[in-house]
Amino acid sequence: MEDVLTTMARQFLPQMTREERSEALLSLKRLIDEEFFALAIAESGDEPARDVACPRCGSDHVVKRGFDARGEQRYLCRRCSRTFTSRTNRVFATTKLDHATWMRFSECHVDALTLRESAERCGVSLKTAFFMRHRVLECIAQSMPAFRSAAGDGMELDECYLAESFKGNRKNAECGIPRKARHRSGPQDWRERICILTGINDAGDIFFEMTGRGNMSEEQAGRFLAGKVASGAIVSTDKAKSYRRALRDLDVRRHEAHASGAHAINRVNGLHSRIKEFVDGFHGVATRRLWNYLAWFKWIWSFKRGRTAAQTAGLIVKQVGSNPYKTTWRNYKRTPYPFYEYWVKQAKWDSRARAALPLAMGAVSKVG
Ligand SMILES: [Zn+2]
Repeated sequence: MEDVLTTMARQFLPQMTREERSEALLSLKRLIDEEFFALAIAESGDEPARDVACPRCGSDHVVKRGFDARGEQRYLCRRCSRTFTSRTNRVFATTKLDHATWMRFSECHVDALTLRESAERCGVSLKTAFFMRHRVLECIAQSMPAFRSAAGDGMELDECYLAESFKGNRKNAECGIPRKARHRSGPQDWRERICILTGINDAGDIFFEMTGRGNMSEEQAGRFLAGKVASGAIVSTDKAKSYRRALRDLDVRRHEAHASGAHAINRVNGLHSRIKEFVDGFHGVATRRLWNYLAWFKWIWSFKRGRTAAQTAGLIVKQVGSNPYKTTWRNYKRTPYPFYEYWVKQAKWDSRARAALPLAMGAVSKVG
């Protein structure tokens, strides 16, 4: 049987004029978004309150220090000496946007829509959409499941490569840098490709690590696989030498090295296609934001399974509601590029590198 709200809507809508109907439907849409938001937030209230920790430095060495103007308990952090309440650094406590807009934005986030599409759908500016996206990314990253494996588990490992990108620094791009990096035909310098080590286990859980520029070394394999590959695991890789010693040191039960593209490492190869598709969907991602996008991909991969799109969007609202952000907007704009030492070395003899250096160090304040 149909619910009473829908029955009423069916009854009243046909009696309205065209304009009235369109207006009523729009406000219903808004009401639905608001209600979904409220439902998601109500769910996060069911969780036991966590111990109070400083939202800026994470320290739990805090003491009560009076009340703020709204009558909320204020705390003083003994480590960074700043005060906070439960509203400090909370997206929904400080936002000027309404709940319906955040709900709609969460749906865009689940569908990995571009900024332009999200901005249009939510009725906000591109700049606001950019801000919303990165606040959401920072908050939901804190609820990311860790990658685990155990003795006897099967797992596939492989690296994939993404071209280094200074996207967002458009003004500076004009004075030379990414031009050469965007060679469409010629092979790109291998040092300007970022290596991402990826893994997938039998349960379908995945992990990523940005290891650095160019091919992954033995030392990097050892460092990044520690804590992920359990002793006694059964690991398939391609024939790259870098894995051999690392996996032996981690005491895996069996290491199978297959020709690259072989059936046995199909799943990790499939994962790579999905990652590249995801990143390409945004028409390239600045390397200094790449980690956030990989985390976004992993979040969707981990939480969309077994949930409807609406439930997944609700989960985003819930996580954004319960996790504080730390990055100030100013620091956000100044995020340095990872692995920029390469440009420092190159700059001694290469004029293109000299021009790239300020970008690599995040000296440019343009949002991107
Ligand atoms: Zn603190």
